[in-house]
Amino acid sequence: MRVLHIVEGTSVDGPGLRTSIYLAGCRHHCPGCHNPESWAMNGGEQRSLDELMEVIAYNEAPVTFSGGDPLAQPVELEALTRRIKQELGYNMWCYTGYTWEEIVERPELMAVMRNIDVLVDSRFILEQRDTKLRFRGSHNQRIIDVGATLANGTITLWSD
Ligand code: SF4
Repeated sequence: MRVLHIVEGTSVDGPGLRTSIYLAGCRHHCPGCHNPESWAMNGGEQRSLDELMEVIAYNEAPVTFSGGDPLAQPVELEALTRRIKQELGYNMWCYTGYTWEEIVERPELMAVMRNIDVLVDSRFILEQRDTKLRFRGSHNQRIIDVGATLANGTITLWSD
């Protein structure tokens, strides 16, 4: 996978201390994006799934995928999240610029949803920016409980 960087023990990308993995590539190009240097699909460096699993297991912490848009590498992300779920059982959050409604139309993106716990969806909208929001940048973005949403058949928001 193309990885921009890994932050170990962060508390800003979800509840508790987490391992945050920032993946390269984003096609949404939201005006006001905080990290446009993350957009290049060939940015960062190539890391194998085994290497990433080693870092994640060493930290013994829940995991957040951010970027960039992690769903820009859906096949690799599905393989990694499946291994984390099966081998480690860690809680996983994923940020994306896609909306849930767009994701359900794309089988390769839905495959990732079956492995993760929480999705923070939707593009960043500068006019709806609010720095006081918890774990998201603009009001249109939703923190979705993926398991409950799949079970209920309707978008169900996460709460702690
Ligand atoms: S989805 Fe995120 S990384 Fe991509 S352009 Fe929008 S704010 Fe930036």
